[in-house]
Amino acid sequence: MEYFGDLHTHTAHSREVNNFLRLRLASFSAAKGKMPGLTIVGMVDHDTMNAVEPMYRVRKEFPKADLPIILPGIEISASFRHPVKAGIIVETDILGYFPQLIEENFADLRQINAIMQPEMLRVIGGKQKKNVNLKLEYFMIQGVIPRSIDIKLIQQKVHERYQQDVLLMAANDPKSGDILNWPVHYSGKLIIDLLLELGIITSAKEGKLYTMRKRADYVQQLAEILLAKHGLSPEQAQEQAARLQGSCQPSLSDDYYKISTADAIRLIVKAGGIAVLAHPMVSIKQFGNDAAAFLSFCKQELLPCGLQGMEAFYPKQEEYTYQIIDFCHSNRLLITGGSDDHQDGRNSIGDNNSRCSLEYLKAMLPGIL
Ligand SMILES: [Zn+2]
Repeated sequence: MEYFGDLHTHTAHSREVNNFLRLRLASFSAAKGKMPGLTIVGMVDHDTMNAVEPMYRVRKEFPKADLPIILPGIEISASFRHPVKAGIIVETDILGYFPQLIEENFADLRQINAIMQPEMLRVIGGKQKKNVNLKLEYFMIQGVIPRSIDIKLIQQKVHERYQQDVLLMAANDPKSGDILNWPVHYSGKLIIDLLLELGIITSAKEGKLYTMRKRADYVQQLAEILLAKHGLSPEQAQEQAARLQGSCQPSLSDDYYKISTADAIRLIVKAGGIAVLAHPMVSIKQFGNDAAAFLSFCKQELLPCGLQGMEAFYPKQEEYTYQIIDFCHSNRLLITGGSDDHQDGRNSIGDNNSRCSLEYLKAMLPGIL
């Protein structure tokens, strides 16, 4: 039998599903039933470790033999500026693994959270803040928000509410991952709530129509709302709706904000984790497919920060796998792999090219595997 691990799976803290952890663990159990060699899975969510504590509880519902070992961790969305090409942002997600959390261990979990959580909230808060400001500026430029209104005051109010909600939910609600991971969506809702309270828009639907991408039927819906709102002529309402629908949506490059790759690595190391570069292929692409150039950048800039491994096995990364393994061997880095299964049907646990043999993982988890 082939024994292997899949160190890259997500729970609903990365994507929205109901009853998320029970379903996630049931899927681990089903995968092990189908592939008895599946010995270990990594459970890493984007920028949060809030699923770890509930995981300990839910795990008790399953017979031990039915589940693979669950290795808790995190995937920090990080980026750095291309060392040579101006204006190019290179995305480098960093995985952090915490073997000390394999068995129920609340003392260590508290300690890790005390180090990681404030930094993650700060970074996500920054991303959210930039996005809110941009979105509101678009509303103002387009004339949806009258010039007589103090936009700084609205920005301030949205940020305060976001901070309140995010702190509350990070502390109490296992689904807070939805906010932590998608601050952009959540802050959009807060903006619309506030514009509604101020009487600037007449319904949440009106607010959404300004920010949703342009579509003929949306223009029609907005025209009907504006007609009722202002007592415009049907032609005027139509003309305004055509101009405003979809006009208040900042583009993706506008709201760029992430933690630096070096800081993400240092943070994981500081919290007592093992820092591993996720899917190097993604970063190699942003190096114009020059794997050698990217790996030499890693050697100079990321290894000194404490990077300990690379995800050599990953779906659709085959063309680089051997080069990455060679690089890991010559730089004494750990070799890992995983499917990046989000339970959304795109990748699935144990996909052939994402399997990492236990021989490699034993170096990472001596005494456990
Ligand atoms: Zn991932």
